[in-house]
Amino acid sequence: MNILGILFPYIVFFFLLDSIKIIRGGHLLFTSYFGLRFKLRTSGFHLPGLSPLGHAVYSHSLPICITKYGVYFSEENFFRRSLLKRQKFDYIPYDEMTSIEAEHKYLRINGSEVIKLPTLQGARYLADMIRRFLNLSEQERARKMPLYLNRSMNTGRIERLKRNFSSLFWPLKVLSSVLFVFVLVLLPLSLYTNVYFHMNLRGLLISMLLLYGGTILMSYLVNRRLYRGGSRKSMMLIMSLVFSPVTALHVLSNMTEGLYCRFDFIALSAVFLSKERFQRVCADELRRIKYFLGREMGSDFREYWEMRQKVLSGLLKKMGISVEEVMEQPARKDPMAEGYCPLCLAEYRTGYKRCPDCETDLEKYESPDDTALEKHD
Ligand SMILES: [Zn+2]
Repeated sequence: MNILGILFPYIVFFFLLDSIKIIRGGHLLFTSYFGLRFKLRTSGFHLPGLSPLGHAVYSHSLPICITKYGVYFSEENFFRRSLLKRQKFDYIPYDEMTSIEAEHKYLRINGSEVIKLPTLQGARYLADMIRRFLNLSEQERARKMPLYLNRSMNTGRIERLKRNFSSLFWPLKVLSSVLFVFVLVLLPLSLYTNVYFHMNLRGLLISMLLLYGGTILMSYLVNRRLYRGGSRKSMMLIMSLVFSPVTALHVLSNMTEGLYCRFDFIALSAVFLSKERFQRVCADELRRIKYFLGREMGSDFREYWEMRQKVLSGLLKKMGISVEEVMEQPARKDPMAEGYCPLCLAEYRTGYKRCPDCETDLEKYESPDDTALEKHD
């Protein structure tokens, strides 16, 4: 066996390692192995890069609210479970802001890290938005805020972008997929078996090299079209392709990461996820909004969540889904449970009126006996 036969397992190992994406709390990843049906991934390890056609789109539900008076943010991330915690918010009003920057994936205000976004594009977008608000009068901000929020929830725009991207991506999909087959199927066959190809090992290696070069060139061209003025991002991508050639086998999933950073995760869920999954995301968000509306914070904080609630209800209406349908009673897990917390969905037996974690009144399950009987039939 030649040196390639010994090296090949390492190539596979590096490919798998390069396929892993680690998601932090509050960050969200929409993944698809073939660019068709997407799944929503929350914190943990995921492998969207296993397929050369795979897409990975980052979004977030981070605790940052940009209001007409300033920016509220929290170091604790939240999505579902962590609702239970009493989240502490910091606040920086516009007139105390001296600098707003996006450094790597961090949004920095007055020199200190405010929040870590999943992508550099996401951090830049937020920094731009805050900078723009900083230069406006209070009335103008109040007028612009709903416009921004509506734009971030524009599902029609996402659909159009998705169609444009897929026509832009196809040459890269072909190159990356052929390279994938050459490296991970034909190469091991020719190294470890006696299967005959019309090509010897040397021919195979030369073809792989040409495909690799083609993928780098195409990635550069596509990336420049995707991220306008993003020459730094394009150079970073080329560097990662040169230093880690296995990246060329699934370059698309790296390239799609920051494409939709201007959009809200709710709107992305509406476009990318199944109706059922979208409804669950909305239910979580409506609960989160309810929770924040119940807290005693500044009037602008309240206004922000009210605005969000309104835009979300509007989106649901546009999709022909009612808020009641989304907030339908959860299925009872414990047959003895009498009520549940509408925020964290914890179930409680008789004797409880409030959820101690969320400090919220419980809601009663309808007709407890029916469900209990059904189970024993
Ligand atoms: Zn609760």
